[in-house]
Amino acid sequence: MLDRVPPSQPGASARSVPACSSDVPGDTIVALSTAFGTGAIGIVRLSGVDAVCIAEQAFRPARQPDLGEGHTHVMRYGRVVDPRTGRPVDEALAVVMRAPATYTREDVVEVHCHGGPAAQRAVLRVMIGLGARPAEPGEFTKRAFLHGRIDLTQAESVAGIVQARSASALRASVRQLDGGLADRVRGLRADLVATLAGMEVAIDFSDEDVDEVDTEAAEAGLAAIESRLRELLSTALLGRALEEGVRTAIVGRPNVGKSSLLNALLMRERAIVSEFPGTTRDTVEELVEIAGIPLCLVDTAGLRSSDDHVERLGIERSRQALEQADLVLVVLDLTEGVTPEDEELLAAVPPARTIVVGNKRDLVEARDTAGPGRGEAVLRGPGMNLGGEWTVCEVSAHTGSGVDDLRRAIETIVVGDDGLQLEEPLLATERQRSLVEQSMAAVAAARIGLSEGAPVELVCDDVRRSADALGSITGEDLVPDLVDEIFRRFCIGK
Ligand code: GDP
Repeated sequence: MLDRVPPSQPGASARSVPACSSDVPGDTIVALSTAFGTGAIGIVRLSGVDAVCIAEQAFRPARQPDLGEGHTHVMRYGRVVDPRTGRPVDEALAVVMRAPATYTREDVVEVHCHGGPAAQRAVLRVMIGLGARPAEPGEFTKRAFLHGRIDLTQAESVAGIVQARSASALRASVRQLDGGLADRVRGLRADLVATLAGMEVAIDFSDEDVDEVDTEAAEAGLAAIESRLRELLSTALLGRALEEGVRTAIVGRPNVGKSSLLNALLMRERAIVSEFPGTTRDTVEELVEIAGIPLCLVDTAGLRSSDDHVERLGIERSRQALEQADLVLVVLDLTEGVTPEDEELLAAVPPARTIVVGNKRDLVEARDTAGPGRGEAVLRGPGMNLGGEWTVCEVSAHTGSGVDDLRRAIETIVVGDDGLQLEEPLLATERQRSLVEQSMAAVAAARIGLSEGAPVELVCDDVRRSADALGSITGEDLVPDLVDEIFRRFCIGK
C-alpha cells in the first residue's frame, strides 16, 4: 500500500504514514454519498478494513492526535491533502466510525468536504489513489446486509426512503426499516417449518412407533398459513401505489374536459387544452399527491372509433391505460348528459374502481339560473342508468368547484373510509409480492395434496418450497446473483 504513495516533496506537509493492512485489493470502497453537483457540503464515504488507514493518509487534522488515534464517532476538523504533492485539496471535517457500530458494520470514515464538483472529485481521487475502490451502486447497503446488520426487506426500504416521492411512501419505507415486514414473514416461515418438521418426523420414523401424519390438523394449519399469506398479499396494491403511484386513467369522449380536469387536479398547465375534438392524441402521465397517496394520472385520447390512423394509435393506448389502471375517472359533459357513447364506455369499466366525473358544472349552473335546465339532475335523473353502484362527482374543471370532493372520492376508493393506514407492514416491491405469491401457491398445492392423499414426501416438498420463497424475502436463502441484482438498483454511495 505504501508504495502507492510517492515520497513527499521537500517542504510539503506530507509525513510517513503506516501501511494499510488489507491483503484484499479493492476491499475498501469509496463513493460520494451526497448528490453530485453544487451544494453546501459533499460527503465522501469510505468503508472497509483500510478505511481508517487510507483516510489517515489523506486527512490532516488541525490538532493532535492523528485521525486514526482519536475517539470513534467524533468529528475532526482539518485538511484533505494529496499525499503525492503534499498540497491541500480541501478544508474538511472527517469522522472515523469504528466497526461494528456503523452502517456497514465495517470501519467507516466520512469526509465532509465542500460541495463543489471539483472539490468532491479531488477528494475522491485522493482516496482512490490511496487504494480505495469506487463503490458499486448500493454497495454500502449490500455490505450492511451481508454483515447481518439489516435484512433484505430493510435494505429495500433504504432504497424506498431514498426514492420516496411522497410523504406516505416515505413513512411506509421508514416503518419497514423497523423490520415489521421481516418479523411477519419470519413468523409465517417459522410456522411452515414447524409443520414441515412434524410431517418429516412421521416419514423418518414411519416404521417405528410414531404416529402417522395427522392429515386433518396439518391441512388446517396449512390453510391458516395460506390465508395469512393472502392477507399479506392484499397489502401489495397499496405498497406498489406508494412506490409507483396509483395508476389512474382519465377517459371520456373528446372535448368533455379530460385535459382540463387533469390540469385542475395538477393545478398547473401540463396537458394541452384545445377546442377541437381529438387533439389529445397521445397519453400524458403526471404524478400528483392526493391525501398522501401518489397518483400517476394518465390523460388519454378520447375513446371513440376513429378513421384517423394517428388518432387510432392514441385510442389503442387509452384502452391499454384502462386495462392497466388501478383507478378510472370517466369524464362526462354535464351539458350533454349521458350519451350512448358514455354508456358504452361505462359498460367497459369496473364500477368499484371507477369515479364518474360530470364536468362543466359551471355551464349547467349558469343555465339553471337563467331558466329551467337539467342541472344537478343530469347524472342522477331518471333514465340515466347511473344507479347506486357508481361513485359520482360533479365538478367544473374551469372554476375548480367540486374538485375537492373528487379528491376525497379518490382517497376513499384507494384507501377506504379510514384513510391511509401505514402501521401494518406492506409489501413494497414487486420482488416481495411475487415471492409471497409463490409461497402461497406452494402452500395451496401442499394443502390440496394432503386432502387428495398425495404421498407425504411430495407434500413436504411443497411446504419446503413455500418456506424457501419466504426465506428469500428477508434474504435468508438467497443466491448471490440475486443479491447483486437487488443492490444494482440502488444509487451509488448508498
Ligand atoms: P378533452 O378533449 O376531453 O381533453 O377536453 P379539453 O380539456 O380539451 O376541453 C374541451 C373544451 O371544454 C375546452 O374548450 C375547455 O376549455 C372546455 N372545458 C373543459 N372543462 C370545462 C369546464 O369545467 N367548464 C367549461 N365552461 N368549459 C370547460
